[in-house]
Amino acid sequence: MEKTIVIASHNQGKIREIAALLAPLGYEVTSAAALGFEEPEETGTTYIANAELKALASAKAAGLPALADDSGLSVKALGGAPGIYSARWAGPDKDFNHAMKRVADAVLLSGTADRSAEFVCALSLALPDGSVTSFEGRVGGTITWPMRGDKGFGYDPIFTPLGYDITFGEMDPDKKHAMSHRANAFSQLVTHLKALV
Ligand code: IMP
Repeated sequence: MEKTIVIASHNQGKIREIAALLAPLGYEVTSAAALGFEEPEETGTTYIANAELKALASAKAAGLPALADDSGLSVKALGGAPGIYSARWAGPDKDFNHAMKRVADAVLLSGTADRSAEFVCALSLALPDGSVTSFEGRVGGTITWPMRGDKGFGYDPIFTPLGYDITFGEMDPDKKHAMSHRANAFSQLVTHLKALV
């Protein structure tokens, strides 16, 4: 496989995180943002469908392998919401305090005692010929209210991973990164990339 991979994202945080993961494997990286590609509309109905459409758009435009991710929080009492709409629940101002309150209110309104939830991360690697391989990582936990901790981002302050009594927002970031849905999907991808070499 080519030794240059396009990170199919316009989010600089994501680009840095994925570039750091690929560097030890000897891959050069560029990104959809650096190449001036437009962001495709996320019209999929699953995490994998959205990751695949982003990866394929960049792979075809660049003529290079491309890697995309899509992630979110799925809450059982809400039938899996906010799910693929996790970023959108925060509105145009990306107000996650508002999004977390929305989740907590909706869980209460649902009338069920079940507080289980999971973070999910889909990663898709597409080639310019249109082939695509995807991996999905998950971490289970419960919704916690009121929110606690300021170490993470997004929905971290209302998510307590299984087996812990602190939220991701209270957890040391290195510890979170070692056990997260993203770490799980990345380790599957790395195994796949190593097998290709
Ligand atoms: P996207 O993958 O860029 O479409 O957005 C995923 C959204 O899911 C983010 O904006 C966060 O709100 C949420 N999310 C994904 N992973 C995490 C996480 O590890 N902690 C907290 N929130 C997350």
